[in-house]
Amino acid sequence: MTNGVWVLGDQLWTEQSALANCAEEKSQSQVIFIESLHHAQELPYHLQKLVLVWSAMRHFAQELEQAGWSVTYKIAEDFHSPLIEWIEQNKITELRVMTPSDRPFAKLIARLNLPCPVTFTPNNRFIWSDLDFHDWASKRKHLIMEDFYREGRQRFDILMVGNQPAGGRWNFDRDNRKPPKGKLTIPEALWFEPDDITTDVINSLNSAAFKSSHEYWQLQPFRWGVTRQQALQVLEFFIQTRLSDFGPYQDAMVTKEQTMWHAMLSPYLNLGLIHPLEVVEAAQQAYSQNQQWELSSVEGFIRQVLGWREYMHGIYIYMGEDYPERNWFNHTQPLPDFYWTGQTQMNCLHQILTQVKEIGYAHHIQRLMVLNNFGLIAGISPQELEDWFHAAFIDAYDWVMQTNVIGMGQFADGGAIASKPYAASANYINNMSDYCKHCIYNPRSRTGDNACPFNFFYWDFLARHYDKLKNNHRMSLILRNLERIPPEELQQIRQLAAAWHEA
Ligand code: FAD
Ligand code: SF4
Repeated sequence: MTNGVWVLGDQLWTEQSALANCAEEKSQSQVIFIESLHHAQELPYHLQKLVLVWSAMRHFAQELEQAGWSVTYKIAEDFHSPLIEWIEQNKITELRVMTPSDRPFAKLIARLNLPCPVTFTPNNRFIWSDLDFHDWASKRKHLIMEDFYREGRQRFDILMVGNQPAGGRWNFDRDNRKPPKGKLTIPEALWFEPDDITTDVINSLNSAAFKSSHEYWQLQPFRWGVTRQQALQVLEFFIQTRLSDFGPYQDAMVTKEQTMWHAMLSPYLNLGLIHPLEVVEAAQQAYSQNQQWELSSVEGFIRQVLGWREYMHGIYIYMGEDYPERNWFNHTQPLPDFYWTGQTQMNCLHQILTQVKEIGYAHHIQRLMVLNNFGLIAGISPQELEDWFHAAFIDAYDWVMQTNVIGMGQFADGGAIASKPYAASANYINNMSDYCKHCIYNPRSRTGDNACPFNFFYWDFLARHYDKLKNNHRMSLILRNLERIPPEELQQIRQLAAAWHEA
């Protein structure tokens, strides 16, 4: 009897359940990794994401080999042919795969029609198991993230004093919204030089054919980590240099500051190089050794990982398969070309899109309140926007994309995740960034030649969807402001919005 383990590109961890299941029978087990060129061409993925995933897979395959596993590494057009060949050559009697985090990939495996049975082992890459989330969710009418987060704090005993939250409050969010005023001393980020394996992947992607189908993105310099050891270094670096000040400027955006105080851990967490519980526990432990740190910073960070990340994953599993098709506002405008090229006179979008082209990363507020917000208020199709996010980001996967873009970002699920749409005018961006200072548009104008598009689209969005929004009590104040706009001015606003789409 020979067991086969197929390690997927986002399951790069020795404790992942399919490998762990065979660990005691290493000598009767075979492991395979497959880089599928066809899969990589399905969307115009960021070239640095392909480097990250393939280099991390090659490094992990090498680590397994050094640990005594028999490893086959295939670079092929598709997944099917190399699997069949490997199963037959090694007389594999059962193929074990850890349940993929992404639904479409699980379906792809189920359709492969392989010559041996396939066993899916439970996905253990998240803190909450799928079953436990289901159990939590099925007992509730409203799936509120704050309730889930509090349950997680208690269940995993994180920042608790007995059965009370440390500091007497569960949530210090209101302390964490400082605008970036004055001179800020922002810590450097930790980057890495590519080694030989990474350089090989970069060279293979440098071929003209590949680059032309993924032309929007910058391949080099590639500076992401590609091993668990480097992921742990990023975690340690974050804890030592950024965690204590993570909170106050969590929502702030500053020109040319790509990462601010953010952790930059999502690429590694999403590949499985590092486990979310070890991240949360490391932050908690650092706080216990540095009680002078602001609890609001540590709690704010832990809420992102133990709260938001786990919640978004749980909701993805819990929601039906029609979730990605939802479009509550019936938005159908095509995605503007500048999302790909970065060429727009709107300075906030230009700065962030240029950064995404360079490194495949933007922090949460840049994603939510600029890239996503514009799509929402301009009425762009949520599905087109999701495809773009999926292609553009180094950390994008189906499970995290759907809930963040379709749900939180576009409110296309009608409010299953967010209690109100994350729509904002230039006022928010002007307050939370320095982008408007260097823009040809005026963040204070909503009509006239240099009116900021975020302004006329914002009021146009509220006016267009007045009937859908009027029953949401969190929108009442905003809608009262809409009602105060004189009809002639509102008409000009709406004309500017319509003209922008026609231009
Ligand atoms: P930090 O701000 O330092 O936060 C720490 C960690 O918390 C992150 O590494 C991440 O693992 C987790 N986290 C925080 N918020 C979320 C969230 N809403 N969903 C999931 N994890 C969260 N995250 C991705 O991992 N991949 C994506 O493709 C992605 N796309 C997004 C698209 C939109 C429109 C929005 C609004 C958010 C998206 N996010 C995505 C969530 C979040 O923006 C990123 O996880 C975060 O910016 C990653 O950077 P960081 O590691 O420096 O995060
Ligand atoms: Fe963006 Fe408008 Fe500010 Fe320009 S003025 S940076 S378009 S919000």
